[in-house]
Amino acid sequence: MNRILTVIGARPQFIKASVVSMAIAECPELEEIVVHTGQHFDENMSGIFFDQLGLSRPRHQLNISGGSHGGMTGRMLIEVERILLEEKPDRVLVYGDTNSTLAGALAAAKLNIPIAHVEAGLRSFNMRMPEEINRILTDQLSDILFCPTDAAMENLRQEGFANKKSEILKVGDVMQDSAVFFAGRTSQRAVAGVEGENFILATLHRAENTDDPVRLAAIVAALNKLHATLAQVVLPLHPRTREALKNAGLTLDVTLIDPVGYLEMIVLLQRSALVLTDSGGVQKEAFFFGKPCVTLREQTEWVELIDIGANTLVGADVEAILAAARANLGRKVVDEQALYGGGQAAKRIARHLAK
Ligand code: UDP
Repeated sequence: MNRILTVIGARPQFIKASVVSMAIAECPELEEIVVHTGQHFDENMSGIFFDQLGLSRPRHQLNISGGSHGGMTGRMLIEVERILLEEKPDRVLVYGDTNSTLAGALAAAKLNIPIAHVEAGLRSFNMRMPEEINRILTDQLSDILFCPTDAAMENLRQEGFANKKSEILKVGDVMQDSAVFFAGRTSQRAVAGVEGENFILATLHRAENTDDPVRLAAIVAALNKLHATLAQVVLPLHPRTREALKNAGLTLDVTLIDPVGYLEMIVLLQRSALVLTDSGGVQKEAFFFGKPCVTLREQTEWVELIDIGANTLVGADVEAILAAARANLGRKVVDEQALYGGGQAAKRIARHLAK
């Protein structure tokens, strides 16, 4: 029996892990132990995903959230190390680029436990992003790197990974697996507070936007203008953004709703005519559901969507946001090349782990 210890803690990780955990459960050679760091803890940022996505309850539930990046990562490191010493897994599995990812990888590396990283090789080339630091260090510590895209493979090649002992595999994107699997389970679900369709679905939570008052004010102005003049803007508000708006004294005059579950998010994506976001995952989900995306960032890790014209980078410039939204609203986007593997990533990952 191969014992895999998975460390997760933030919303996108619950969505990514759900499909991989299902695939692991189908492999008799594998046993999975889940650790939830507590990085996201609210019912609508954590609990609802365990209910909706059929994730088994974590064997170890930590309550580490908030505070500085270093403080949070340090506390996770202490607690995850303690659990690793107790559980003695054969391998640690981490996802993406959060503090939970880095803490899980670092704790394992210090104990010489092999690490597999799902969503390896992504780069924004912006070291001011906490996520970029987390993903570069996690890739360095991992010996199995599951890459979602050709661009991710190429980034690792450029960084000299081909000369190391690590295994680098292109498996496709687990978020497409989740989108495909759970889209079949939404059954016309209503989303409280949202009527109609053909709206602009917006999400906003990256630190580079919420923690910069000038950028935040510009994005708020653009969203308010779009809502008043182009189409209804529906925005499930991330707790970090709620706090930042309050501190900056800014008001969003759009259809604001609390964060929704993943099934509701799929329904919103399906009913939208455009996605406006600074999220990593939501850029791809727009594409999976055939919607154009306008991204409120200066760079993206998902460069293939820019290359094929499915996604437009506009940063936090009011005029650029308005122009891109007007140009893209209602446009249909087609995935001609199965850029993200078509929903087979989780199976490939589990099969490789079972080897
Ligand atoms: N999401 C959700 N409910 C919401 C907003 C987002 O389920 O109210 C999902 C979204 O569909 C995607 C994931 O959360 O699968 C993205 O997470 P987030 O934007 O927080 O993180 P990022 O992808 O930027 O790391």
